[in-house]
Amino acid sequence: MTAEIISVGTELLLGNILNTNAQYLSQELNALGIGVCYHTVVGDNPQRVRRAVDIARQRADIIITTGGLGPTLDDLTKETIAKAMGDVIVENPDCMQYLKENYARAGRTMTPNNLKQAYMPSRAIVLPNDAGTAPGFALEQDGKLIIAMPGPPREMTRMFELQVKPLLQKRQDSVIYYRMLRMFGIGESSLETVLLPLIDGQTDPTLATYAKEGECSLRIASKRA
Ligand code: AMP
Ligand code: MG
Repeated sequence: MTAEIISVGTELLLGNILNTNAQYLSQELNALGIGVCYHTVVGDNPQRVRRAVDIARQRADIIITTGGLGPTLDDLTKETIAKAMGDVIVENPDCMQYLKENYARAGRTMTPNNLKQAYMPSRAIVLPNDAGTAPGFALEQDGKLIIAMPGPPREMTRMFELQVKPLLQKRQDSVIYYRMLRMFGIGESSLETVLLPLIDGQTDPTLATYAKEGECSLRIASKRA
């Protein structure tokens, strides 16, 4: 099972914020035995988000998006994913009730654009948001599973931990074990030369060398059913 992470947000492309969501999700997915094959970052532009989703559907089994689920006009991820997956957006009564209760509890007045968050793809499994107002969702089509979560890291990590992880664990077909060995006094190219007989034609475990400042490391990874 392979995954692609699509991070939606023009602020990421402008370099205003660091893509910590992709790092967190990669660590979590790999720990579940789901190999992450691609990270894509795309701005808040429906045509480009659509293209990113279409490409991801061709090369990954699971697609996880973060960002663009909020109430404002530039939050277009939900509508775009629904179209790409051959679905339509409809009002979701549970989301509507949750949204109204949430605003009433907080003593805040809802503006008309907030209602947008009560609309969901018709076939979606809704993922409630414990830490904010924008719910996430999971949608499956032709054996491809797409999971959309909000951008704020606090909301996203909580949603992943409580709802997405159990959902993925049910589908888990393997686990990935890995160890990082830190090397001192040997450069990356010398290390690779020494290990070449093991690296040549490797299948499992796999070895990979990484150069860092002042040291290099060796990653040994094995995937098992
Ligand atoms: P959004 O859900 O697109 O409205 O995102 C709201 C906020 O979440 C952004 O302004 C960022 O501060 C944060 N955010 C969105 N995407 C990411 C990401 N990939 N990594 C870290 N923070 C993010
Ligand atoms: Mg955004």
